[in-house]
Amino acid sequence: MAEIRVVDVRKRFRGTKALDGVNLTAPDGMITAVLGPSGSGKTTLLRVIAGLEVPDGGRVYFDGADVTDTPASERGVGMVFQDLALFPHMTVLENVSFGLEARGMAGREARARAREVLEMLRLEGLEHRYPHQLSGGQQQRVAIARALAPDPKILLLDEPFGSLDAKLREELLWEMRRLREESGFTAIHVTHDQSEAMAIADRLAVMNEGRIVREGSVEEVVSDPQTVFVASFLGANVVELVEVAPGVYGAGRLTVRYEEGLGKLRIGFYPEDVGLGEGLPVVVEAVSRWRSGYRVKVRSEFSEGEIEVWLPKVPGREFEVEVRRWFPLS
Ligand code: ADP
Ligand code: MG
Repeated sequence: MAEIRVVDVRKRFRGTKALDGVNLTAPDGMITAVLGPSGSGKTTLLRVIAGLEVPDGGRVYFDGADVTDTPASERGVGMVFQDLALFPHMTVLENVSFGLEARGMAGREARARAREVLEMLRLEGLEHRYPHQLSGGQQQRVAIARALAPDPKILLLDEPFGSLDAKLREELLWEMRRLREESGFTAIHVTHDQSEAMAIADRLAVMNEGRIVREGSVEEVVSDPQTVFVASFLGANVVELVEVAPGVYGAGRLTVRYEEGLGKLRIGFYPEDVGLGEGLPVVVEAVSRWRSGYRVKVRSEFSEGEIEVWLPKVPGREFEVEVRRWFPLS
């Protein structure tokens, strides 16, 4: 059992505020995805949780116990680093058993455990290869096997699938969920890829400039991102509607009435929640094929810049779209 709680953690590197008062709860037995752009502080946060970086302020708790001053080696945390950090001169088996022996496990026992974990990650038969003799996906699995070998109660993954193609990534995402069922660890999975976060996580925490700016279940965050930053990061269109008549836009379909002196409304919506219909007049800017339909960049007089919508067909240069689901943004 291991709930991770981070309270007001701050970390500065010379002039840079890497973490600016981070608060985060990763519930026991769940996968929490930390999603944010490059430089937002994700790696620093993981390193603080693992005990590899000392915060300037704030506390870290595992199951209510303060571990802020506990050395990394005593935290029971497994970590998969962004660059994997496999030992190039060691075989797969040695890479995985090394840490166990360093923890005092006898060689024979360590190798047996390493084989067991390698099997869990479907790497049997590759025990005696060196990292450079493996594909990218296999290397990634070895790094995960190495982190899981000591049976940690907490697993921290720093953009572990960064370099993999979409198909391999999907396979490993399923694998991670299966391993979580089997081993019951609590995981924090850091990524800058929103589709990866949504595919793997039970909970989402969106990070920007050293802070967690939105946190909740995947469903909560996706259906109500609340701010322009989070909505844009999740792939939503952001549109500022001007002169909106109060009361007209409450239905599932977005309708705009032209009346003077009325309020402004900033809303967001996902490309998949838009269909052909009456509502928002748009002009086509660009069209490309997308699965069985089209991905259409359109411009409307209500928005700065382009909006992206996915449509089964594109009727012409000018038409109206119906926004079936949307959310207000601040
Ligand atoms: P992310 O993983 O989200 O890309 P990082 O945690 O690596 O973000 O970095 C957050 C900020 O802190 C960045 O501006 C980065 O340049 C800075 N930073 C991280 N580690 C160090 C370090 N060891 N020395 C100086 N600056 C650092
Ligand atoms: Mg990073």
